[in-house]
Amino acid sequence: MVDEVRVINNFLNMVKISSPSLNEREMADYLKKELSEMGLVVIEDNAGDKYGGNAGNIIAVLPAPGKKKLLFSAHMDTVVPCEKITPIVKDGVISSDGTSVLGADDKAGIAAIIEMIRDIKETNVEHPEIIAVFSIAEEIGLLGAQSLELDKYKPDYAFIIDSGGTPGTVVVQTPYSAKGEIKIIGKTAHAGLAPELGINALTVASHAITKIKLGRIDSETTSNIGIVKGGSAVNIVMPEVSITYEARSFSGDKLKGLLKETMEIFEETAKSFGAKCEHQVSIGYSGYKIEEDSELLKILAKASEKAEIELKTVSSGGGCDANIYSGRGIPSINLGIGMSNVHTCNETIKIVDIVNCTKLISAIVKSV
Ligand SMILES: [Zn+2]
Repeated sequence: MVDEVRVINNFLNMVKISSPSLNEREMADYLKKELSEMGLVVIEDNAGDKYGGNAGNIIAVLPAPGKKKLLFSAHMDTVVPCEKITPIVKDGVISSDGTSVLGADDKAGIAAIIEMIRDIKETNVEHPEIIAVFSIAEEIGLLGAQSLELDKYKPDYAFIIDSGGTPGTVVVQTPYSAKGEIKIIGKTAHAGLAPELGINALTVASHAITKIKLGRIDSETTSNIGIVKGGSAVNIVMPEVSITYEARSFSGDKLKGLLKETMEIFEETAKSFGAKCEHQVSIGYSGYKIEEDSELLKILAKASEKAEIELKTVSSGGGCDANIYSGRGIPSINLGIGMSNVHTCNETIKIVDIVNCTKLISAIVKSV
């Protein structure tokens, strides 16, 4: 049985542990102790060393030789401010005291996974192999997931508990995402004495920007210029401008096409002004799309019936660790746990949502 008091107490303990990205040491130690005491094989990988963090991903395995392998994952890091988090429970809702985030993103996911494993062990049911992954540095670019040695564990499916929306919310589609910098290099000159000797990089960039596609391009694709930096003094022809650009699409091919077109426009415009263009814009992570008749959704449908929690499929504009695993060929999906106002000091989560998400993932394990 899912123990409602135990899962919430564990959640409250964990949010009090400060764990900004690349500083997850205390959280990793807490989990290692907790999971070892539960009798699981616990491993810490070297993801921290790779990225300059003080902890690696924590991986705990509940073996079931010859059975299907299910990966469940939530990330250990939270956004800031998270130095001192004081959770407040009122009318079934948990919030911070307003001076920090709560960190339900994603410690609610961790609490649910741990409680699910306890439930499976206590009820002594037949179960698939469970691989629990608690990743580092998700918030700064899915770094922990990227360095996870998936080949070691070979999961059949991955369930990431890292979405808003009440339990039963299933993110079946997320975009491919690209970002990076475009630099236009013009030529400096005194703006008053000899402007004709200069090439204003911003003028070049502006011409290009009027030609590229920005904003919502179609129902699947968006692009944006978020940061523009250039210039040092008002009497100097701006020699260089740097543009930070991002684009997303549910279609990988469309995204590739858009990047090619956009970079060509910048290059050609620069050339026509006698300027230069350098760019490093690349696809950071793959999107995923889970088809309606997929095995993964069949398992979820079965679990939803068992747990009496209705499924609601949605698409999301953001990425999470599921995008990384899915890019490596593992059918992966992100599940809602009701966290709301994430990445703000008004972040909250309902007790009932943590409990129901735990019941749903416990039912998933019993539905395979
Ligand atoms: Zn998250």
